[in-house]
Amino acid sequence: MTHLPQEIIKKKRDGQVLSTAEINFFVNGITDNSITEGQIGAFAMAVFFQDMNLQERRDLTRAMQHSGEVLEWSHLNLNGPVLDKHSTGGVGDKVSLMLAPIMAACGAFVPMISGRGLGHTGGTLDKLEAIPGYNTQISPQKFEQVVKEVGCSIIGQTSNLAPADKRVYATRDITATVDSIPLITASILSKKLASGLDGLVMDIKCGNGAFADNIAMALNLAKSIQTVSPIKTQAIITDMNQIIGHSAGHCVEVMETIEYLTQTKVDTRLHELVEKLCAELLVTGNLAKNTEDGKTQVNSVLHNGKAAEIFARMTAAHGGPVDLLEQPQKYIKSAQLVEPIFADSPGYLTAVNCRNIGLSIIELGGGRCQANDQINHAVGFSQFCNLGQFIDTQKPIAFIHADNKNAMKLAAKQLKNCIQINEIKPSLSSIIL
Ligand code: URA
Repeated sequence: MTHLPQEIIKKKRDGQVLSTAEINFFVNGITDNSITEGQIGAFAMAVFFQDMNLQERRDLTRAMQHSGEVLEWSHLNLNGPVLDKHSTGGVGDKVSLMLAPIMAACGAFVPMISGRGLGHTGGTLDKLEAIPGYNTQISPQKFEQVVKEVGCSIIGQTSNLAPADKRVYATRDITATVDSIPLITASILSKKLASGLDGLVMDIKCGNGAFADNIAMALNLAKSIQTVSPIKTQAIITDMNQIIGHSAGHCVEVMETIEYLTQTKVDTRLHELVEKLCAELLVTGNLAKNTEDGKTQVNSVLHNGKAAEIFARMTAAHGGPVDLLEQPQKYIKSAQLVEPIFADSPGYLTAVNCRNIGLSIIELGGGRCQANDQINHAVGFSQFCNLGQFIDTQKPIAFIHADNKNAMKLAAKQLKNCIQINEIKPSLSSIIL
């Protein structure tokens, strides 16, 4: 076997199968920084075009999983299963922030390792950092403690957890190599397996705001993840042809999460998604007899305030404000300008190009062009209309949150270009495909 990274890249570029040893060598080089960002980008592009067979996907997943510490929970004698959910990435996808406390309120333990924004999609980690003081980089010991005491903890990949994926992920984000089934499979599973789960539910997003923009690719991705995963893994394909909930951005999504958990404002489609993912995960973890029982439990912990309380405790345990849920406006930043944007003519909203909405958030300053870019958490869209809603001079398409007039003007133009309106009300698909 060659010990030259460029020869391994060449082999994949030319469509050959990489051996376990070659994949291990390359991933070790990513972890110890002897392989450069340029080489990672070239490798990712080679995989993008040439694919990987099942064995290569397993090898890449395992190598990235073991590139750092692999957590193990049995010594804590937790009185419930260790479960998690992961989404393949969407626009306005704040589900993790809701699901983790709901699952904990239902008796599961959720050690969630999340990523930053990737391509046009937002990242849970960036959203959490919109909460002042919330530390996403706590030590593994503190992570264990929060999971045991609160029931859930959401953190980023520390240098100890799947560090190889951390570098690959950041490089893919800026090299147009995100939407590759083997790379998504290994990226997601390496993190999830490093967190020592008993069971996983995958939210496979499908539509114009997802990496899988058609059902065939979504099915392929679902099968790839289920086949490669060595733990109990459910995969649910869900619609990503409209914003999830009514906001997209960081601060605005945290606000929507708080409204949802405190049940002060609930988007029906978003609730359907959260309810389904939680219910299936409860079944996977033997905490519910069936999906219906799972849904009943989910609604119960939302209505009795237990899920909201756990979110508040998790936030405080990570260094965030203790009264976040009581006074969110005091803590969650607002953009300089917040303006409603109206359509040029009235009608039913029939289509939204979610990918372009995601890109527009990046242009507003809410995403990265280089891996180390700082992001502006306050920008984005709120009160976004659902498909099928009637919009006119009274009802805006959405509110744009921007930090200056030029950015507002550009985003307004982009928003109008992202939507379609018709006088006939469209028939709507369920969010669960
Ligand atoms: N989420 C991840 O963690 N990795 C991907 O590649 C896509 C979504």
